[in-house]
Amino acid sequence: MTKEKIAVSACLLGHNCKYDGGNNKTQKVLDYIRDYECIAVCPEVLGKLATPRLASEIEYGFSGEDILDGKAKVISKEGVDVTQNFIDGAKKTYDILKKNKIKKALLKESSPSCGVNSIHTGEFCGNKKKGQGVTTSLLKKYDIKVLSEKEI
Ligand code: SF4
Repeated sequence: MTKEKIAVSACLLGHNCKYDGGNNKTQKVLDYIRDYECIAVCPEVLGKLATPRLASEIEYGFSGEDILDGKAKVISKEGVDVTQNFIDGAKKTYDILKKNKIKKALLKESSPSCGVNSIHTGEFCGNKKKGQGVTTSLLKKYDIKVLSEKEI
């Protein structure tokens, strides 16, 4: 029987692509994807950001949709504007899903790229707020079903 395809944040699978060079390997994700044909994606690496890299957050008060609409920026902890990297990474991620006819994604909660229901506030203080990352926003625009590791 052909398995349904799913795109998964590579860090959740144990790839060391997180900003600090580590990963977010989650056993329940590994268990969940057993029923799927899984394709790992890391939007920030696809957007040509280095690993490790400085943490970045979406500007205070905004969310992923605002980045795509050009209303806000993604800024690194050192104040570098990395907005275009995040947009490029989101588009490349969508291209991979489109090419592989993938209609579902499981992404890392709270990331400025992959966050599904929450993101950091933009103050680099560890606080989170309701919102979604840039890649999640783009995938949802194309009717991809996106859920986070907190929802499985
Ligand atoms: Fe993980 Fe997404 Fe961040 Fe890549 S961009 S490290 S996949 S949360």
